[in-house]
Amino acid sequence: MKCYLCGMNAQPLSDSAAGQVVQCPDCGEYRVSQEVLRELNERQFDYLPMREALHRQRQTQASVLADINSLNAIWRQPT
Ligand SMILES: [Zn+2]
Repeated sequence: MKCYLCGMNAQPLSDSAAGQVVQCPDCGEYRVSQEVLRELNERQFDYLPMREALHRQRQTQASVLADINSLNAIWRQPT
C-alpha cells in the first residue's frame, strides 16, 4: 500500500473498527480512524503539518503509535 501521508510504500499492520494502522519507513507508525479513511477518498492530508503533529504526539504520549482522527486531521486546502 501507499502511505497516506507521503505516498511511499508502507506496510499495513492491522485493520479494525478503530481504524487502520500503517507503518511507513519515513512517517513511522500511525493509526487512521475509519472516519478519516472515508474522508481520504475525497481529500488529502496536508503532509508536513500532519507529520509534525504526529511527531509531537509521539513525544507527548511517549508512544510510537500516533493517531489520526477527525479531530486532529490536517487537510490540504483546495487551491
Ligand atoms: Zn509515509
